[in-house]
Order: sequence, then C-alpha cells, then structure tokens
Amino acid sequence: MKGIETSCDDTGCAIVDSEGHILGECLNSQHLVHLRNGGIIPPIAQNLHRQNIENVVNTTIKQANIDFSQIDAVATTVKPGLPLSLSIGLKYGKHLCRTKGKLFIPIHHMESHALTCRMHDNSIEFPFLVLLISGGHCLLVVAQDVDKFLLLGESIDDAPGEAFDKMARRMKLMNLPEFATLSGGQAIELAASKGTDAEQFKFSVPLLQYKNCNFSLAGIKNQVWRHIVQQEKLHNVEADALIPDVFNLCAGFQLTVTRHLCHRVQRAIEFVKLHNLIPEEKQTLVVSGGAACNNFINKALQVVCNEIGYRLVRPPPKLCTDNGVMIAWNGIERWRKNLGVMKDFDSVDIEKRSPLGINMIKEVTDAH
Ligand code: ATP
Ligand code: FE
Repeated sequence: MKGIETSCDDTGCAIVDSEGHILGECLNSQHLVHLRNGGIIPPIAQNLHRQNIENVVNTTIKQANIDFSQIDAVATTVKPGLPLSLSIGLKYGKHLCRTKGKLFIPIHHMESHALTCRMHDNSIEFPFLVLLISGGHCLLVVAQDVDKFLLLGESIDDAPGEAFDKMARRMKLMNLPEFATLSGGQAIELAASKGTDAEQFKFSVPLLQYKNCNFSLAGIKNQVWRHIVQQEKLHNVEADALIPDVFNLCAGFQLTVTRHLCHRVQRAIEFVKLHNLIPEEKQTLVVSGGAACNNFINKALQVVCNEIGYRLVRPPPKLCTDNGVMIAWNGIERWRKNLGVMKDFDSVDIEKRSPLGINMIKEVTDAH
C-alpha cells in the first residue's frame, strides 16, 4: 500500500506492507521555510508540495525496492487540511492510479492519526478512546471501527499545537540558537524543562465548571500573552530579546494546558463508563497528533490512566506528527474491510473541513 500525505506543510509518502512493515518512506518538511515567514502561507506551502512530491514518491519507491505492480492501491489524504496543499497530493495520487492502473483510497487525515497505533500494536482492538492533539485539532473520540467514530469533545477555539506554536513565536524562543529549528511545541517543551518552578505563574484551567469534554486553549494563551506584555513593559525588553523567567513561564503554560487535557480526558472516561462504550478488558486511551510528542503531557496522561485503570498508548513520536506511513496504514485498514476503495475516483475532491465521526457532544453535556 502506498500512502501520500500533503494536508499541511509536510510532503510525505510511504509504502507499507499488509503486516504493517514500512518498506520505504520519505518526508519533506517545509518547517524551516514557514518558520522564516512567521507562519504557513498556503500558496508557498502548495508550491513546495508541487516541487517536492515527485521526488518524495520516487525516493520512497526506490527505498522500498519493489515494482509498482506489487502495490495494490494508493491511499491519499483528501481531508481536512489546507485546500491548496491537499490538492497537490490528490492530483498526484489520482495521476499515479490512472497511469499505473491502481485503486484509489481517499483518506481522512484525523482518522489516520487515530489508527496509526494499530500498525505497531495489533493488541489495540476497537473500541478504544482517542485523544487527538495536533496543529489544527483537539478531539476526544471513541474509535469503534476503521470508519466509525463517536465525537465526544473538541476545541471551541485553538488546538494545542497551534497554541504552542503561537506562544513560542510570541516568546521569541526560536531566537535562542538551541531552539532555532524546533517547532513551537518542541520549543515550549524544551524551555519548560529548563524552568525551575512551573507554579511561579498561576494560570487558571479553563472549563473546569463545564461537565462536557470540550476544550478551550484561547483563555490560557491570553493569560500568558498578557503576562508577556506586562513583563516586556516592566523590564523594557528589546524587540529581539526574551523576557526574564521565560522558562518558568513556559513550564506554567505547559502545565496548565496539560491539566486541562487531563481533566477533559477524565470526563470522557466517565462518559464512556456511564454508557458502557468500551468493555472493561479493552479500556485503552490512545494519544496521537503532533502535540502527543510532548513527554510532559504523555506522563501526566499516564498518571490519569493508571488511576482509572486504562492503558495508555502513544505511537512512536515520528508517527505522531504528519507522515506518509500513517496514510498508507489507514489505506491498509480500509483495504482489509473494503471501505472506500475506489476504481472510479475522478469525482473525489478535497475538503477543507471534515468532522470526524458522529457528534455526541450534546449527549456528553446532558449526561452529567
Ligand atoms: P492536524 O493534524 O490537526 O491537521 P497538523 O497536521 O498540522 O494538524 P501535526 O503534524 O499532527 O499537525 O502536528 C504538528 C503540531 O505538533 C505543531 O503545532 C507542533 O508545534 C506540535 N508539536 C510537535 N512536537 C511537539 C511537542 N514536543 N510538544 C507539543 N507540541 C508539539
Ligand atoms: Fe496532522
């Protein structure tokens, strides 16, 4: 199975066999270009995908050392994501299928993040609970099958990765040489690890009084933002300089985001128990998406899971961020069950937004 990913700023491709062995993979990250521009500019991302996709695909095939005839189908991300970026992958995926006579499998990017864990660990059986924390999403879902999800909660504003990226930029962390090439999330995690007191600054955890599983990151972000503005004035900080105590500020920010995520996970687990959505022997929380690379968040989720008797599973960090492997694996999962495997794929189009699963948010809110 070949997988192609271009939903945001990574051009990814992989060939994975039906047992989940990675035969070849290639990833071209645009991160450094977007870092210089202070954020992703969609036409620039599109151009880079266009320039790189052929090479990324060919490198993957070369690495896998197989003939195209041995590939059953091409799975390609078609939703959700940046339309200009998605369109490049879709066009290339269709082109490959047409010229090589292959079947096409359109892929939902968040479904892939949710299912990646099953590639390495076939003991993870449906149904299981999933926390997806990435650059564009914050979701709590019950995965009931490859194409069946119940949406328990989502962010009403920012996603964690997005909040980390914005704040790392605002704190000018990347001006420090050691941080220069990191993503915002990596920068906040590293800076926080250098802090000595995560409680020096106290930020309130959002939505504590709300008994649903939704998330809100904007409030935490604003509290931290206000603190930075205050400190910059107070200490007359120059344009490129960092405020004093920036490491403790990062530690406090990361701690507050983590407390919020853990609190919502606890809510979700309560709801799942109340409605018997996951049998006791299968009680598993999967965490994935780019922000799942964060070891501090991961450790805190482990504590929550230990207390409640859930197993916590996280894919290897390089499979938590965007990559072609997860798309190929999602293709295999769909192929096995014949879900959306297409001979006629001309009419398939990209979708900028696409909710994952049946929306249960009202039921979750009413249940408590
Ligand atoms: P989505 O999956 O919602 O479409 P995306 O594909 O752009 O968004 P991913 O590649 O899944 O996002 O994840 C990228 C995000 O992960 C970035 O916002 C980045 O800051 C964040 N991230 C990466 N490493 C870490 C880390 N160690 N701690 C926190 N966040 C991290
Ligand atoms: Fe992603």
